[in-house]
Amino acid sequence: MQAWLPIAFLPVGPKRANKIRGYPVDMQEIQALETVHDILEYMLKLLSNAQYQQGYEMVCADGNIQLCFPKLFCWLTDHMENAILHGIASNHCPACITPTEKLGEHVETGYPIHCHADYRTAYMESDMSSLNIYAVKNIRNAL
Ligand SMILES: [Zn+2]
Repeated sequence: MQAWLPIAFLPVGPKRANKIRGYPVDMQEIQALETVHDILEYMLKLLSNAQYQQGYEMVCADGNIQLCFPKLFCWLTDHMENAILHGIASNHCPACITPTEKLGEHVETGYPIHCHADYRTAYMESDMSSLNIYAVKNIRNAL
């Protein structure tokens, strides 16, 4: 009961390896980010398939077989990992649209949270101008 297991450690690809000729730094960064999101999408897909709804038989610590329903309930990240998961520039808040120069300041009313539907639309329409304004990376985000 109440057991939890880490199901994955997401890779951190080498970024800005300037010594690779013909492999631009910006492309390296996008491909490393896409790799993380490909893995994340794979893991989340396993938790949403039909078998998941019926449970998985797993061997318990006492040797008995139990019908289990794995749930993803949290992940541990620091700010940089959060930026990777959200596909945003690292100098932006993953939760709200605080202007970069206002990060760390207390604002009574707060700032609006990110509108992921707008980001999805901009990505689907290859609207680089909007993605740049949102500080969102041009990747297919698994979330
Ligand atoms: Zn924020």
